[in-house]
Amino acid sequence: MTPVPTLIYDLDLPALSDLLKSWGEPAYRAKQIWQGLYQHLYNSPEQFTSLSKSLRERMAAELTFIPFKVKTYLDSSDGFTRKTLFELPDGNLIEAVLMRYGDPADNPQISTSATSGRGARKRRTLCISTQAGCAMGCVFCATGQLGYKRNLSSGEIVAQVMYYAQMLKPQDEVVTNVVFMGMGEPFHNYDNTLAAVDRLNDADGYNFGTRRMTISTVGLVPQIRRFADEQRQVNLAISLHAADDEERLAIMPVNKRYKIDEVLDACRYYVDKTHRRVTFEWALISGVNDTPEVARKLAARLKGLLCHVNAIPLNPTAGYAGQATDRERAEIFKQTLEQAGIPCTIRMRRGIDIQAGCGQLAGAVGK
Ligand code: SAH
Ligand code: SF4
Repeated sequence: MTPVPTLIYDLDLPALSDLLKSWGEPAYRAKQIWQGLYQHLYNSPEQFTSLSKSLRERMAAELTFIPFKVKTYLDSSDGFTRKTLFELPDGNLIEAVLMRYGDPADNPQISTSATSGRGARKRRTLCISTQAGCAMGCVFCATGQLGYKRNLSSGEIVAQVMYYAQMLKPQDEVVTNVVFMGMGEPFHNYDNTLAAVDRLNDADGYNFGTRRMTISTVGLVPQIRRFADEQRQVNLAISLHAADDEERLAIMPVNKRYKIDEVLDACRYYVDKTHRRVTFEWALISGVNDTPEVARKLAARLKGLLCHVNAIPLNPTAGYAGQATDRERAEIFKQTLEQAGIPCTIRMRRGIDIQAGCGQLAGAVGK
């Protein structure tokens, strides 16, 4: 049996150094390759022109640079969102979505000079997957409806970022934010997710700031506490979606294991440890969790916690009858929370015409 080539993004710098040492290469070679990968964004051995032909051939034979095929990609009709569905070698599908913000046409109030040209910091937020499918079974979520397939390796997580970074490079653009909000539950694949964070953050490599990363979790309490103890600068978001245990259990089976109070206690622990604000994600579902009464109950529970609520009208999915809250009711929800002292933003739904909601494209293609 021929051995399966190692995915180069699965290696951290010490592991890459060990590999090259075992090939009889000098010590500085690993750094050279590391910089090619993460600074020049090379994605094939031929691009490493400063290396010998024989080394490039060995890299081609024993390492993989692209761990998936592009099964399909879709651009939203407004041109601001690109969703890519990747097929892994074992046939599993994962998705990553790029959202562009801050272009002049996107927001006419922003002057052209401030947002175009070299060096302009247009926001390019990339949403990546940490698992194929998800075991958590949230009823409103397309990924939850697919069920769990498998964990992604750290390299498979990193490779999604590299894919988009390589795509944006010819346009002189960069990924500015990474959110772990695609398919899967990041804290159910804790080690690989955090290894991916470290690899992306490496100062000699891609050097992507942890403050520009956000991990979103369904609320796995032991992992929230562990994450707090590690004192990372990565932003933390918690998918709450209900202010009452019974109501949360009806849409999120995880609430059987961890009650809202336990999740909020872990969040308080996180804030105490890190002094960082927690985000609560809230999918506004018409008539289910969008009433002023729910908003008041939520505000009472969050009182005193350094946090804000990120509400987004539900992206309807095939497997769930719930509908999105309309703009007017969303605004009332926000105002009710804010009157009670809890900051809230309503996020626009992006890429709705390309099923950019979590797991939706894989759900449509993968059946
Ligand atoms: N598993 C993690 C991260 C992936 S889901 C988590 O649950 O937090 C990313 C976000 O999308 C979560 O806040 C999740 O609740 C939300 N989400 C899932 N399905 C949705 C839908 N149909 N409409 C709106 N938000 C949804
Ligand atoms: Fe999994 Fe998050 Fe979807 Fe829940 S919302 S099923 S945790 S991906």
